[in-house]
Amino acid sequence: MPLTVFNTLSRSLEEFVPLDPGGNRVGLYCCGPTIHDFAHIGNFRTFVFADLVRRYLDFRGYGVAHVMNITDVEDKIIRRVRAAGTSLQTFTAPIESAFFEDMAALGCLRPHRTPRATEHIPDIVALIEKLVSRGLAYQAPDGSVYFSIEKYRGRGCHYGQLVKLNFDEMRPGERVASDEYAKESIADFALWKARTPEDGEVHWPSPWGDGRPGWHIECSAMSMKWLSPSFDLHLGGEDLMFPHHEDEIAQSEGAGLQAPGRHFVKYWLHAAHLLVEGKKMSKSLGNYFTLRDLTQKGFSGREIRFLLLSAHYRGSFNFTLGGLDGARSALARLDECLAKLRELAGGASAAPGEKLPDDFTKAMDEDFNVSRAWGLIFEWVAATNRALAEGSITAAKAAGLLAAWQRVDSVLGMGGKETVLDVPEKVTELLKQREAARKARDFQRSDALRNEMKALGWLIEDTPNGPRLKKA
Ligand SMILES: [Zn+2]
Repeated sequence: MPLTVFNTLSRSLEEFVPLDPGGNRVGLYCCGPTIHDFAHIGNFRTFVFADLVRRYLDFRGYGVAHVMNITDVEDKIIRRVRAAGTSLQTFTAPIESAFFEDMAALGCLRPHRTPRATEHIPDIVALIEKLVSRGLAYQAPDGSVYFSIEKYRGRGCHYGQLVKLNFDEMRPGERVASDEYAKESIADFALWKARTPEDGEVHWPSPWGDGRPGWHIECSAMSMKWLSPSFDLHLGGEDLMFPHHEDEIAQSEGAGLQAPGRHFVKYWLHAAHLLVEGKKMSKSLGNYFTLRDLTQKGFSGREIRFLLLSAHYRGSFNFTLGGLDGARSALARLDECLAKLRELAGGASAAPGEKLPDDFTKAMDEDFNVSRAWGLIFEWVAATNRALAEGSITAAKAAGLLAAWQRVDSVLGMGGKETVLDVPEKVTELLKQREAARKARDFQRSDALRNEMKALGWLIEDTPNGPRLKKA
């Protein structure tokens, strides 16, 4: 069974086939945070989803390159830098660190590359020069450089690949300078913004005078630089579809760096909105949560990750504090089952044949159907608990079940590494010898073996169910 994904370009499910002729390498880009403030739980839904996709592609055997940009220069950031009376770097550095702390707390693997916009100004300028030389961008009387939608469409290029646009009202040459605008105001958008007094010290030299890049061009320049002019997967929240992603396509395909017949991005995946307590998040409604707000209420990053990963990414999801309580009890059920299995498994070698990873793969192949995957996992927990109660699970079977969970958890990231002991073969062998020595009542040898294992960093706890290994 192939992996299928819902591609926003075609608005349909498509089989995932990497651009790599070898079928192995996959380029994955997800728009990263704008570091003007702590990220909120809605932002994290997208980042946790990107982490799930990356981990699942790894699990499926692909060689993934995961890139996420850091937008460290943009309209909102500049406003805050000015309000704080500080430098761009001094303002953004602690917010960026906090962001990566939050990502780690949520169990997200760090993307392979996290390029900052301010460290790619020459790449951005080169891309704008390319667009100017191809006649698709121009410097306006205000000194800024804009992308011409009229010229782009005149070349037979399609503006409006991700969203339906109505060009009837559009007046050619009308310009929009701000990074965020509505669909109704489709207009030429800024690639390079001429320096204004409000920018303070935030500006760089360019062929068009001092200024700073627009937000959209950052992603085109950095994704194409660190992946390739054509890459497989571009992820983001659905709120970024327009104008941000539409503009990324126009800039990247307008520069004409792709091989004939190739697009900038093969598959666009968009995560739906997150509601909090049934409403759109807003500071005035009191339902605006950063990760820190939730950890201060006593919830763990793991519980929050579980809740964010409980629903399919394309469905809008209602995140509630009650849901977090539910996440806590669900995880407790899972942990209790795993603990019993660990106790039973001791250091036994895993019996093969567990089907959980295959069932999990079938569910996840359906456009990352994680809710179905969780359904299967909790059925597995219930069946395992029944078998445990009946006493019908051998040590080898328990080890096999744990190995199956660990495999699945390499995707879910619920902390399999801590909960499942990866016992070296040597230690398993010593444990067997010690059991034999104890049975033969050779306590001197049994103690010597215990010490040998201790020297390797493993302790033995003798329980009514037999010996249990612990890391020293
Ligand atoms: Zn982006």
